[in-house]
Amino acid sequence: MNTTIDGARELVANMRQGLEAVEAIEKVVCPPFVALAPVREILRGSSIRLGAQDMYHEGSGAFTGEVSPAMLGGLCEFVILGHSERRRIFGETDACVGKKVAAAVRAGLRPIMCVGERSENREDGIAEETVEQQVRIGVAWSDSPGNLVVAYEPVWAIGTGQAATVDDAQAMMAHIRRILASRYGESAASDIALLYGGSVNARNVGDFVRQRDIDGALVGGASLDPDRFVELVRNAASALT
Ligand code: PEP
Repeated sequence: MNTTIDGARELVANMRQGLEAVEAIEKVVCPPFVALAPVREILRGSSIRLGAQDMYHEGSGAFTGEVSPAMLGGLCEFVILGHSERRRIFGETDACVGKKVAAAVRAGLRPIMCVGERSENREDGIAEETVEQQVRIGVAWSDSPGNLVVAYEPVWAIGTGQAATVDDAQAMMAHIRRILASRYGESAASDIALLYGGSVNARNVGDFVRQRDIDGALVGGASLDPDRFVELVRNAASALT
């Protein structure tokens, strides 16, 4: 819930040129619902893709205030689902996220399914188990991964300046890849993009994306300043090429 319509327009207009100059990697911006259409205009003709931050799983009907897959289909390609704030503040369960992921795949959208343990799960030694359950239930309704993207975001690392260590992130993401392989097969699982999220910045992004099972980053705070974000994207691209 950052920016206004005008603020989102201005932010993306100020990063468009810098992002376009980075050709080696895929770049996606995910503004709030109300800014999707205006930002789409700003991005017209550019290589920068557009995504939403949530969606409901039902096709249409009496679900006041919700946004359907078909509504997004006309606007953007990606949709973030199961962000930890949706789970923690709005009570979304693993099952609810799983239904949304399946609906997004069916609608031809690319779901960015977020998973991640809380600090108490890590302290209790159940971080892997917690994430495993989120992933298994998150893909339970989807017979094919479609164009699934999975973002591993440890809750304690989001917006805190306290990123996971590169080794811990890689270990968890290798675990996620194994779970996906047991569901969809090795080959399909190796094609699923895995993103790390949680206090990613221009300084640490290169270390993350150099890891075997980290294909990219989901960035929150550092995307709210156009210069910082362009620098981050540039650094990610040079680490990957
Ligand atoms: C987020 O909001 O999902 C996030 C990863 O935020 P930040 O990059 O600020 O930690």
